[in-house]
Order: sequence, then C-alpha cells, then structure tokens
Amino acid sequence: MTQVLGGFAALELHPNILAAVIATGYEEPSAIQLQSIPVILAGHDMIGQAQTGTGKTAAFALPILSRIDPAKKEPQALILAPTRELALQVATAFETYAKQMPGLNVIAVYGGAPMGPQLKAIRNGAQVVVATPGRLVDHLRRDEKVLSTIQHLVLDEADEMLKLGFMDDLEVIFKAMPETRQSVLFSATLPHSIRAIAEKHLRNPKHVKIETKTQTVTAIEQAHLLVHADQKHSAVLRLLEVEEFDALIAFVRTKQATLDLAAALEAKGYKAAALNGDIAQNQRERVIESLKDGRLDIVVATDVAARGLDVPRITHVMNVDMPYDPESYVHRIGRTGRAGRTGRALLLVTPRERRMLQVIERVTGQKVAEVRLPDAAAVLTARIKKLTSSLAPLVADAETTHGDLLDRLTADIGCSPRALAAALLRKATNGQALTLAEVEREQPLVPNSAPRERSERSGERSERGDVRERRAPMPLADGRARCRTALGARDGIAAKNLLGAILNEGGLAREAIGRIQVRDSFSLVELPEDGLERLLTKLKDTRVAGKQLKLRRYRED
Ligand code: AMP
Repeated sequence: MTQVLGGFAALELHPNILAAVIATGYEEPSAIQLQSIPVILAGHDMIGQAQTGTGKTAAFALPILSRIDPAKKEPQALILAPTRELALQVATAFETYAKQMPGLNVIAVYGGAPMGPQLKAIRNGAQVVVATPGRLVDHLRRDEKVLSTIQHLVLDEADEMLKLGFMDDLEVIFKAMPETRQSVLFSATLPHSIRAIAEKHLRNPKHVKIETKTQTVTAIEQAHLLVHADQKHSAVLRLLEVEEFDALIAFVRTKQATLDLAAALEAKGYKAAALNGDIAQNQRERVIESLKDGRLDIVVATDVAARGLDVPRITHVMNVDMPYDPESYVHRIGRTGRAGRTGRALLLVTPRERRMLQVIERVTGQKVAEVRLPDAAAVLTARIKKLTSSLAPLVADAETTHGDLLDRLTADIGCSPRALAAALLRKATNGQALTLAEVEREQPLVPNSAPRERSERSGERSERGDVRERRAPMPLADGRARCRTALGARDGIAAKNLLGAILNEGGLAREAIGRIQVRDSFSLVELPEDGLERLLTKLKDTRVAGKQLKLRRYRED
C-alpha cells in the first residue's frame, strides 16, 4: 500500500535496498531509523543512542548499503560488533537487505573459525565486513592493508565492546582505516569512555537519540515473560490456554509474522486473523467488525495496521514482538482497558531485549511484573475449567430431553451411564490432552521460564576476546544428563531434526528425551543418564543436516 510505504519510500534509500526492505515485510521505519537514515545517507558521522529492539541494525545497514558501490570489489564498510553472535546477526541483516543488490557480498569475521577463508573472502571483494575487534586485529597483523579501502565504519554496541576490553584493539583498527571515512557509533549508554572515543575518532558527529516523554498507563495490568525468540509461538499458545480473554490483539513486527502467527492460532482452533498493511481497506474493516461482534477473537497485527483500532471487547494485548519505543508500547496496550474496563497487557521479551523492557518501565514509571510460562498443571486446570463452563449450561434440562435415550442406549450397549458419558466426553473433546502426562508430553520443548542469567554477553571470554554464548541452564530432571552438540540454528538445525535423529539412531522412546534447546551456535539435549555412554557411542556417526552431530556430555562449570 503506497500510503503505508510512504515512510520508507520517503527516506531516499537506494531503490534496490528499498525493494528488499519491502520484501522483508517492514511497514514503517522505527523512530531510530527515521532519524538516523537521513544523517548517515548524507555522509555525516553520527552517535546514535539506541538499544537492541529499536531497529538500530537497519538504521545503519540500510543507508550504508545504499552508499556502497557493488561494482567495486573491495571492503567499503566495516561493522564492529562485540560478540560473534551479534556479528553473525548483523551480517545476516546486511545480507537480507542486500538481497536485491547483485554483486554485493558480506563477510562475518570472528574468532573460533579458521582465519584463512575469512581473509580470502575479504580479499576477494566482500564490500561489507562485519567483525569482532579481536579477530580483526589478528587479520591486520597478517595484512595491514586489509582495511585501507574502508569508507564507512560502524561501532555497534560500543559500550559493550569497551566493557569487554576491546579498547586497545579499537585503536589499532582506527589507525588502519583512511581518515576520510564516515564513522557511526551506536551505543545504549554514553559513558565517559565512549564520549572520549567519539571525540577522538568522529568528525562533528550528529547526535541521534529517541526522546521519550513520560507516558501514563492506567487500568491496564501489565506483565512480561522471558522467552527465547525461537519459542515465541509455543509461548503464545500456552499463555492463551490460561489467560481468560474475551478478544485479544497480538502485535508483531512484520507482515509475514502476522500471517504466520494467525495461521498457527487458527490451526489450534482459535478464531484468529491477520491484519497488516497489505490487507485491503474493505477486508480490514471486515476483520475489525468480526472482532467486534465475536466472529473473531484474536487479531494479529502490525503497529501500522492496528492504528485507530477501537474495539471495546479487547481484554488483552499481547506484545509478541517488542515495540520499537515506549510510546508505541503505550499505544499498543491502550487498545485494551477501554471505556473504563480493566485490561491486561503481556509482553514477550527475548534475552537481548531486556534493556528495552527497562526503558519501557522507566518511561511509564511502572514495573512490568515478570510472569512464568504456565506449566502443564496450570494448562490442565485451565482446560478443565473451560470444559466445565462449556458443559455446565448443557446439563440444565438434558436429563428431561435425553434421559430416556440415555437409559435406552446404556441398555442396548450394555454399559454404565459413566462409561457412555466418558465416551461422549472423549468425542466432544476431540483428542485434546486432558491428563497431566498428556499435557506434559504435548509441549516438551518449551521451558517453564527463560534462564535466569540471560545475557548472551555475560559469558566468559574465549580466545581473542570473543565471548562464548552462555545462558544459565535449566534445572535438570532426575535421571537426566545434559548433552551438547556444536550444531545450532546457524547450521540450519531445528529441535525436530535433533529429536528425529536421536530417536531413529539411538532407538530411544520419545519420553526418554527431555528438553531440546537450539541456540545459534550449539544445542543442548537432555538424555537419560542411565546408559548414556552407550547411547553416545551409538550416535557417534550420526549426521544431522549433513553435519556430524558429535553429541557430548555437557558439564556446566
Ligand atoms: P534491532 O534493534 O536492530 O536488533 O532489530 C530488532 C528486530 O526488528 C529485528 O528482528 C529486525 O528485523 C526488526 N526490524 C527492524 N526494523 C524494522 C521495521 N522498520 N519494521 C519491522 N521490523 C523491523
């Protein structure tokens, strides 16, 4: 919709970059993007104060990609990130936005991987280099000219880089680049050390900061829940089981996410629909009418599509993806608690977004309490409660109307009324899990809560300053051992692949396998302690997604 695209289209990005942004499903630039993109496009140095979740990566990636010449096969942009994980994330974002720029290559450079191929890729003409400082300095030692063609530099999460002790490495890197380059620094906080770097290495930088006014929120009960990004759908489904809602609006960031989540909800029997900027006006009105009159109970929307939506039935707002700024959080949750009613707002927070949560709390002057994902017992209680309330009204005169039939049927079948009632219940509940064991089996991959120590960057440093991904593990069930494989999401692994491989090759029953947690660069699987060594030997040559599984006992120390 042209009117919706106005936001990005007005920013004067390279047409191929704009096309990729639209294809990605973004509808509107976030506040940090609106302010940073023109500054970076104009070639200014810049200091941006923004944290993860504000859309800061696109805020620098889009204008920088727009200014790169894909015909020149030499490094033109360098993005420095504190950790390997962030470097990979940023590189992936660049690749996504550069999809329609033929000849544009991105290379991620980080510790722990062989240096030769990285250096080769840089020399072969990758125009965008995303690196952790430690490893980049190693490369500079081998080839001091490697950064001599850089025209754009971004320091991403500069405060984190300094916290990790990269100051000296940064100085070496600054010296290896042309002084005429453009430098952009992003940092969540601006302590003295960051200001000193800016003073020394940036030229008349423009400052970009998202101003936040205090916002008031009343009559809305707010809660947040920590989840890993890959578990959002299961978390939403579980929450919906126990939340007593009338109508609910779920907010996500992209068009595709509206479609995906609405489809997942429909598949579970919810009356749900997607609302995004691609949906024609008359269809949008139909969706809103249906939400008003109860033909729909859940609408999954982007911020743009939900603008002006006023449906008094909405009792719940679920922020499945984090809003870009506190104002839009307040806007979103204002969809409930209308007309003097109370509402409930739930916010899913991934480990990296916890800072954003703090900003929201500061701006709204309210604590957003943490809740845990409901466990199987809570889900079961909620299911039985729903079943009770759906059956109770049916009982009223049923004996009068169908009592004789019941007598006849039980006599004909030769069963007790209890047996017949049980059979009818089984039919009516249509295979739904209604015992604790069944509910537990249903969603075994979702942990009860996110780990306590959630910062990916609180791990210890490994060689050359890279930080190993580390999250506090979940408590283990009795008789289980935790095992680790170096295969993770970035190898294209999903939990179901690991489960399939272990079931097939290990000859285990499904119940024997506990939680499977897939992280970016590794995965954890809970296996029975009993016979573990034998099992690991059996799985010795197992391959998943074409790579050796190499499952080992994992000891936390
Ligand atoms: P960041 O703050 O850069 O870590 O970005 C957080 C998430 O927001 C990423 O998953 C991006 O893909 C997404 N994102 C960034 N900008 C937009 C936008 N304008 N519309 C929708 N999603 C966005």
